[in-house]
Amino acid sequence: LRTSFSVIQKETGFVNGLIAVLHDNTEQEKIDMERREFVANVSHELRTPLTTMRSYLEALAEGAWQDPDLAPNFLNVTQTETERMIRLVNDLLKLSKMDSSETELNKEIIEFNRFFNRIIDRFEMSKSQNVHFERYLPNEQYFVEIDPDKLTQVIDNIISNALKYSPEGGMIRFAMTVEEGALQIRISDQGMGIPKENVDRIFDRFYRVDRARSREMGGTGLGLAISKEMIHAHGGSIWAKSVYGRGTTIFFTLPFEIDDGGEWE
Ligand code: ADP
Repeated sequence: LRTSFSVIQKETGFVNGLIAVLHDNTEQEKIDMERREFVANVSHELRTPLTTMRSYLEALAEGAWQDPDLAPNFLNVTQTETERMIRLVNDLLKLSKMDSSETELNKEIIEFNRFFNRIIDRFEMSKSQNVHFERYLPNEQYFVEIDPDKLTQVIDNIISNALKYSPEGGMIRFAMTVEEGALQIRISDQGMGIPKENVDRIFDRFYRVDRARSREMGGTGLGLAISKEMIHAHGGSIWAKSVYGRGTTIFFTLPFEIDDGGEWE
């Protein structure tokens, strides 16, 4: 809040009034600050893989390419870093599309239970870790109007995180209930958890509890920010609860109503 004062003075020099103007530019300042922070973050996130690649390429150019032990290793690093940058740029494009509301939701009426089970099946088939899956899903059918590709991205992202942070032999639980006219989906892990004061921030762009660890695991820090945008676009909400050292649950809701406006012809 900025305040400016004007003094009302008569020609005689006699002050007979004071005008105070309050400018509420906190909202605009906040947006500007967030934008600057975002650009700084993007630059930093791109510079890190680029400087790594530069040093490895320099080493290769200076002769390491002839070393049969070093060369494959160095090339591997540059490849990993390139892939990270591609992931990052793809995530940024997704976000900017959501920001400019360019992305239209390609909504379809989907039976959510079957849809959710299939995604879980896919992870259960392909997971390489020793992590158990438990499903607490109702037997009923629930029809929701959603963009299946977008929802798949959201769920993929939450499950990938749950797997990333799960301990050996850990359990991931999938649950679904109907709460106040919405489907509520919960995905819980027994991982390291998130300190209480940081829980809400995990949906912020580029926020990571442990930057080095996330990067090591190939994360961009944008996954949950994208998920949040996608869930909001569907009229739902997304949040997390976590006990540090014990595990994390990600919750999201989807309005559970069908506007069938003649679509069942
Ligand atoms: P990324 O995984 O690419 O770092 P996300 O946006 O998916 O980015 O997640 C942001 C941060 O939230 C992660 O870096 C991590 O610190 C934290 N986080 C997300 N999911 C979990 C989880 N299941 N357990 C512990 N921490 C998590």
